[in-house]
Amino acid sequence: MNAPAGLPRKVTILGATGSVGVSTLDLFEQAQVEVEVVGLTGGRNVARLAEQALKWRPAQAVIEDEQGLPELRDRLRGSGIEAAAGASAIADVAAADAQWVMSAIVGFAGLAPTLAAARSGAIVALANKESLVCGGPGLLRTAKLAGGLVIPVDSEHSAIFQVFDSRATAQVSRVILTSSGGPFRTWTKAQMTHATPEQAVAHPNFSMGAKISVDSASMMNKGLEIIEAAYLFAMPPERLDVLIHHQQIIHSMVEYADGSTLAQLGPPDMRAPIACAFAWPDRLPWPAPKLDLVASGPLTFEAPDLTRFPALSLAKAALSAGGAAPGALNAANEVAVAAFLDRKIGFLDIAATVSETLERMERDGDLVGGANGDALETARETDAAARRIASAVTASLSSAR
Ligand code: NAD
Ligand code: MG
Repeated sequence: MNAPAGLPRKVTILGATGSVGVSTLDLFEQAQVEVEVVGLTGGRNVARLAEQALKWRPAQAVIEDEQGLPELRDRLRGSGIEAAAGASAIADVAAADAQWVMSAIVGFAGLAPTLAAARSGAIVALANKESLVCGGPGLLRTAKLAGGLVIPVDSEHSAIFQVFDSRATAQVSRVILTSSGGPFRTWTKAQMTHATPEQAVAHPNFSMGAKISVDSASMMNKGLEIIEAAYLFAMPPERLDVLIHHQQIIHSMVEYADGSTLAQLGPPDMRAPIACAFAWPDRLPWPAPKLDLVASGPLTFEAPDLTRFPALSLAKAALSAGGAAPGALNAANEVAVAAFLDRKIGFLDIAATVSETLERMERDGDLVGGANGDALETARETDAAARRIASAVTASLSSAR
């Protein structure tokens, strides 16, 4: 949805205080775009949300943590900006009258507001991959039915989006997602057993939120991205591949039946895919860092190691199983990553927790179905069931340490 001619575009940023949210506002500033900010939301960081609100003057600033509301009100007093709190206030502001909504909350918590934004008919710039993994193709249908569109912001999916010929889907032989390999690309399994949260969040090329950083280290991030790509581009699991490309210059590729492969390249900078999602189908001029292929040196490629990084196979199996499996995989991973960051379980226990949770749910018949009834309710049930089991698994792994 675009603004009427001559008027600034109305935008809302969900997860404004996080890494992608901050990059989005920075891009607006660098590109000097004229936007009218309708809403900004944050999780717990009241000070940062208030500072952003005083600068960008949204109609509403919403903090998820209800205990932060008095401080947010205090900081916004006299500004005319309405302060609100809680998950339902976030979903409400997501559904307000923005024409472009950045979905950059982390985890399953982003699903309800992302669905609300999709239902409003806004263009949804989707960074929050977990919401697509859990909401499934229904999220995309919701946006389409409302006259809106979901444009991927995840750098791999933005790359594919830019080189994917939707008129020739049947002639796409493979979609190849590239991966940096993460900070443990060259580590042995024995070394990974003792990996600390500090080592896991030290990503080689990007500074990102803690959760996605751990996901990059375990390669569950790439696993979630395979599922994300399957839904966005309607590709079956066997036509989705992963290639380790440490330099992160090629952001992904699409191979066609005639032997031609199209790739998208650029410096690793999240503002580039955000700019693409903001201006599509135009191009946003901004002082973007440009590629210097001579300076960046040789580009290298390796096959992923499925033994050291079992999360990739777990995600692909969940995609093939369908039904509730992708949502359960995501929930178990969120629980396990939080336990790892809390130093309750080891790094390799993350994939072990996901695997054990999916096995137990499959054994108990909890992974079938999922398509009936309200999509959000179904996703919430799966999420809650998987969290209960995964929490029991991490508790027993923790006490065994
Ligand atoms: P982050 O942790 O830096 O930021 C997350 C944002 O969500 C923050 O504003 C936080 O306050 C908010 N939040 C957290 N829990 C919340 C809750 N329960 N309810 C409401 N808001 C909540 O994470 P990030 O790195 O910016 O990533 C955001 C999303 O974008 C993730 O899904 C991630 O996978 C995806 N993504 C990030 C990058 C990147 O470079 N950082 C790249 C591709 C995709
Ligand atoms: Mg990515």
